[in-house]
Amino acid sequence: MKILVVNCGSSSLKYQLIDMEDEKVLAKGLVERIGIDGSILTHKVNGEKHVVSEPIKDHRVAVKLVLEALVDKQHGVIKDMSEISAVGHRVVHGGEQYSDAVIIDNKVMESLKDCSKLAPLHNPPNIIGINACKAIMPNAPMVAVFDTAFHHTMPKYAYIYPLPYELYERYGIRKYGFHGTSHRFVSEEAARLMGKDISELKIITCHLGNGASICAVDRGKSIDTNMGFTPLAGLAMGTRCGDIDPAIIPFLTNEIGMSIDEISNIMNNESGILGMSGISSDFRDVEEIASFKHDRRAQLALDVFYYRVKSFIGSYVAVLDGVDAIVFTAGVGENSSIGRAEICSGLTYLGITIDEEKNNIRGKATEITTANSKTKVFVIPTNEELVIARDTKFLVQKKISHKSK
Ligand code: AMP
Repeated sequence: MKILVVNCGSSSLKYQLIDMEDEKVLAKGLVERIGIDGSILTHKVNGEKHVVSEPIKDHRVAVKLVLEALVDKQHGVIKDMSEISAVGHRVVHGGEQYSDAVIIDNKVMESLKDCSKLAPLHNPPNIIGINACKAIMPNAPMVAVFDTAFHHTMPKYAYIYPLPYELYERYGIRKYGFHGTSHRFVSEEAARLMGKDISELKIITCHLGNGASICAVDRGKSIDTNMGFTPLAGLAMGTRCGDIDPAIIPFLTNEIGMSIDEISNIMNNESGILGMSGISSDFRDVEEIASFKHDRRAQLALDVFYYRVKSFIGSYVAVLDGVDAIVFTAGVGENSSIGRAEICSGLTYLGITIDEEKNNIRGKATEITTANSKTKVFVIPTNEELVIARDTKFLVQKKISHKSK
């Protein structure tokens, strides 16, 4: 069974074609600048790149080009489209309704649209991607895999905000949490690397990328996470501010005369590592300038980031009543040995001893603590696409077996 995994942004489309026999990625790629000048498709097979530069006016054209690349005589990997058994879509927000992946039908489409008000930046492009795939591949089953689903196990006291309860009841204002597919994958991988059943373990997973969040995983279930109603809450991120005093917002309006849209743009796009350093949202740039140019603001931005990661880890140790393993994943978590060392340097009370040599790795699943470290620390590359493909396969096979009964 071959499954196409699709992740649509407002002007981009990431994809992977995975053969589920051996979970091998047959091809992957990225369409960028959809609907903007300079559209480009980069298609990769066995590490070899094929680039198509031509106007791509919308996501439907993008899907068509992806399929053409997949069946191309030279750099294609399948004979024709019918080899694609199903399409798995990453959908950011599943609201309160979806605690698991779901096969997409008309009713699901309606509720995805409903969830758009909870994620106006993220869900609409996901829906456009689903519609584009449905139009080009009308016979392939489509599955939605939600970023929020893994966090459905959070207890109510962890997800209710101390606001008037009617705001939750009427408008669904509560913590939802995101990056669930990643937290689920790396916590399961950590259990596998430890040779233990996840039902015996307390794990804290740190997804540290341009967007970043931490999750407390108690015996395989998310019991708290620090993104909230939207992915703006929690840690300081590449360009997002994370948790700030909410009273700053009326202050900016009343004292400085900023509009809500301006404030929202500042908090989402001009804050975090970019806002604090004034240099870049990219951790590599900021680490380099802090280390080699001794730039104080760059160092401060990193210190704020590390401090917040450390304090959330501490809070989740309390929530879990102990911890067996901490996992670092995503761009910064997988690659920044400096970042991991800084964060773990303050966690001696957990009996953590980092092995410097082991910590000097990038993007490879490995334990980075010494043999006698009481709490284990792992670096585990995340693989959200694989989780989406596995969930899609599971649902499609279930549907087939249900039909044949
Ligand atoms: P992601 O959103 O998971 O793709 O992560 C992107 C972030 O990872 C960017 O800020 C990158 O600068 C950061 N990153 C990637 N490689 C490294 C590295 N070697 N050291 C530090 N940060 C890195």
